[in-house]
Amino acid sequence: MRFTDGFLEELRAKNDIETVVSSYVQLKPSGRLLSGLCPFHGEKTPSFYVYPETQSYYCFGCGAGGDVITFVRTAENLSYVDAVRLLANRAGLAMPEDQADDGTANLRKRCYSANREAAKFFHQMLQSDVGKSGFQYFHSRGVTPATIRHFGLGFAPDDWNCLTKHLRSLGFRDDELVQFNLSRKSKNGRVYDAFRNRVMFPIIDLQGNVVAFGGRVLDDSKPKYLNTSDTVVYKKSRGVFALNFAKNNSTKELILCEGYMDVIALHQAGFTNAVAGLGTALTEEQALLLSRYASQINICYDADEAGRKAAEKAVRIFSRTNVKIKVLRLTGGKDPDEIIKNSGVEKMRSILSGAMNDTEFRLSQAKEHLDLQVADDRLSYANEAVKILATLSNPIERDLYASKIANESGVSKSAVLSQIDRARHYQQKKQDQTRFALIEKQMNAFSKNDFYPPGTPIRVRNAEEHLLASLYRNPDFLTSSCKELSANDFSSQTNRTIFQRLTKIIEQGKNPSIHAFNDCLTPDEMGHLSKILTLSEKLGNNQKECQDCVAAIQEAKKAVAPQAIGKLSDDDFLKLFTKK
Ligand SMILES: [Zn+2]
Repeated sequence: MRFTDGFLEELRAKNDIETVVSSYVQLKPSGRLLSGLCPFHGEKTPSFYVYPETQSYYCFGCGAGGDVITFVRTAENLSYVDAVRLLANRAGLAMPEDQADDGTANLRKRCYSANREAAKFFHQMLQSDVGKSGFQYFHSRGVTPATIRHFGLGFAPDDWNCLTKHLRSLGFRDDELVQFNLSRKSKNGRVYDAFRNRVMFPIIDLQGNVVAFGGRVLDDSKPKYLNTSDTVVYKKSRGVFALNFAKNNSTKELILCEGYMDVIALHQAGFTNAVAGLGTALTEEQALLLSRYASQINICYDADEAGRKAAEKAVRIFSRTNVKIKVLRLTGGKDPDEIIKNSGVEKMRSILSGAMNDTEFRLSQAKEHLDLQVADDRLSYANEAVKILATLSNPIERDLYASKIANESGVSKSAVLSQIDRARHYQQKKQDQTRFALIEKQMNAFSKNDFYPPGTPIRVRNAEEHLLASLYRNPDFLTSSCKELSANDFSSQTNRTIFQRLTKIIEQGKNPSIHAFNDCLTPDEMGHLSKILTLSEKLGNNQKECQDCVAAIQEAKKAVAPQAIGKLSDDDFLKLFTKK
């Protein structure tokens, strides 16, 4: 879909990059720029920069970059058209409707609409005779009719193809339904419902679209939960149940649970900030997403061995973000659902207020199977605790916990502290090694995302990037310094595309804007362009610089690879020969 320049210009004017990015990232002024923690990779020191002047952003850590549309595209996992739509909605602009959609935008629309119809169907089934067993299941778990409506809960009947038939009658094709994971196709070509005889939990994204389903069996058969796998509108590793409701709560805290039923029980009891991952262990993507909506995460996993293991892993993952982590110590029931049922809302509230911070949680884990009456156990506890405290960067905190450990283990506080110092020294060394490995990995990642043919010299890359940056800044240099230059002189396809588009813009007498590249570059390439734009800070902005770049590019072009010699004209060959 091509939008008119006028529309895009208005869209940009009404969606200032600083304002839009600020709703995802806390930005701090840094000279003429703004910086913050990158929302696209886990980090503790900011390498993400917003450039108000060029209305662009760039992350020096992971290479993500672009304009406000690229940002929304990447952050919300949307297509170009859907990102424009989101920004238009945000600014109260009407979308130009009559323009032809690109294929994926249309497919996504179909998928949203099929999911919405499926959710309506499941919900109706739950209220009908067919859904009695499902209704009874929710009733037995204490879910009220109001909660059923609020979450749009449903029931998939014990039938091979009632949903498939229903959606066909609404005009959906079998191949679409299979692609959207609502139906499956057997080896002999029969299309049947993906969910059967299960209570259904619709997963709703932050824009209010039904994007997936979780289905639970009514008895003990396996698999207990069945979840939609990835589709064109849904990525399981990013999915969070009930975040669409929880994001609106005012506390800046979220309660992270294990399952749908925990979330539903908590919301019904008034804890409307409860969410859950979807069937799998917490992923880094989910943690990053949650950290955008909360400054504190209360981890509320089941009080069994599996729950504790999962909590330990979640603590590790969240420690790479900037959120505060607390781990709830569940007592009086194995999960929040049971606790609220057995002991009431107040009990749950007191558990929340008595939550352990991550250090307390790790210490309590360390002594879990130990008997502190026994000398050997006290010693192992002290050793384990020292390792944990060594990871704390705040010396006051270390001192505080050292007293606690000294008390519990009977080791003197000074001994605990000196052991912590030794452990810190050792950890620092190990950290340096990991950091080095990480830098190496990042460099490899960059070369994977490299837009140049293998072996392109740094000098040539620099010349191309500086020239493009210089032209972007000083459009009049195009006529004065680049008469001899053609797009083919650039070594990479991406730079060629950028040069061509830039030339077109300048020849139309317009000022270059990063927005004008959205429809000819991929989000990754937009990152490359943003990196180029960051160079304009270092430019001298004079013609001489521009001419030097052109000369370097053309010289490199002349140094033809041997296999291309055969294709040279006689004249060119002679020139090359005499030069050599
Ligand atoms: Zn980044």
